[in-house]
Amino acid sequence: MGSAASSFLIPTAAELEGPDSRPTAEMLARRAGQRRRIQGMIAVSLVVDAAILLLYARAGTIPVLIGPAYAACGLTFIAFCIMLSEFGFNERFSDHYLVVEQSIAGMMIVLAFAFVAPEVGVMFLCTLFVLFSLSSLRATPRQTMLIWTAAALGLAALFLLTDKPISMPHGTYLERFTTMLAFTLTIGRCMFVGIFSNSMKQSLYRSGLKLKEAYKRIEELAELDELTGSFNRRCIMRMLDEEIARARRGGAPCSIALIDLDWFKRINDAYGHPTGDEVLRTFAITLFANIRRIDRFGRYGGEEFLLVLPDLSDDGAVRALDRLRAIVADLDWSAFSPGMKVTISAGVATLKPNESPDTLLARADHALYAAKAGGRNRVSRA
Ligand code: GH3
Ligand code: MG
Ligand code: MG
Repeated sequence: MGSAASSFLIPTAAELEGPDSRPTAEMLARRAGQRRRIQGMIAVSLVVDAAILLLYARAGTIPVLIGPAYAACGLTFIAFCIMLSEFGFNERFSDHYLVVEQSIAGMMIVLAFAFVAPEVGVMFLCTLFVLFSLSSLRATPRQTMLIWTAAALGLAALFLLTDKPISMPHGTYLERFTTMLAFTLTIGRCMFVGIFSNSMKQSLYRSGLKLKEAYKRIEELAELDELTGSFNRRCIMRMLDEEIARARRGGAPCSIALIDLDWFKRINDAYGHPTGDEVLRTFAITLFANIRRIDRFGRYGGEEFLLVLPDLSDDGAVRALDRLRAIVADLDWSAFSPGMKVTISAGVATLKPNESPDTLLARADHALYAAKAGGRNRVSRA
């Protein structure tokens, strides 16, 4: 019931976007299915009314034909609505359920029968409650005003323009029982509409949660480097800006390190590009596992990575990088290929007052160059 409920009660994005947005074939089929389900519910409600009318006929209140005639009339109207829906007629309108049109047509049928069989008028008035409670779930404020105005006019016509004795049969025991049943079933159907609306809220809530999760995942994917799972360049550069701004505000130190894998081209050449990829991934995971939660680590490009170390002055940063360098060098890389060794070099720079991110990066890059020139597998400070 959830999806039928939510789609009935809440206009879809395409509906809200207006007639210019073109729904897909799948969307059209889903909507037609939803309309069928709603019409099915109305048909069941109609059959309940017809059964009550038959009971009144049995009690001798009304002619026996009223119940079947009411059912035939209502079901023919429902069949007509389904036919229009299946031919795509409803899709020409922004409200594809045609709530106003169908509510008013339904009300006219009900009032016509109240006119024909005023002896059981109370039952038809009860049916109006069911009809309008269902339509009010979907109707916009403007549509609600239209439906309510039509209802007021229809009731005025029945009560004021005719002198029909709109009655609540209670003369015999069976009449009292049937009237009681009519009230009870009306209350039940109105409560069912309430449950329908509740299930809509829950289904919308669940969809909202799923959307939130999907959105979060998209955001994560947009920020992550596909190969290594570390932040991508755009993201790590943004984080660098943020950390520099934070360090300036708080007067705390902030260091960075540019890390480059040594002789990586040789690794690719010796073991193949896919193994090179695995080495990059393992390196990134190892680094992640050995940095603080506040550190930011991202792929700067190729086999070069940027590590942002908030709250660390140059001594602390060099110590941290040397620890990471040793961890990478001591890792057992022979699982990839016997005899494989992987080392890194790093250039560390600590933010100076009023220094721009570009200058800070340039100093770290110089330090990295010095580490390479110094023989690799080492850390240099700017
Ligand atoms: P150095 O110690 O001076 O840094 O030597 P190097 O060989 O690491 O440096 P160089 O810049 O000559 O080569 C970097 C290599 O990294 C070349 C490039 O093919 C490889 N590389 C860059 N990105 C990837 C990647 O995503 N996957 C793999 N497998 N290799 C990559
Ligand atoms: Mg390299
Ligand atoms: Mg490089």
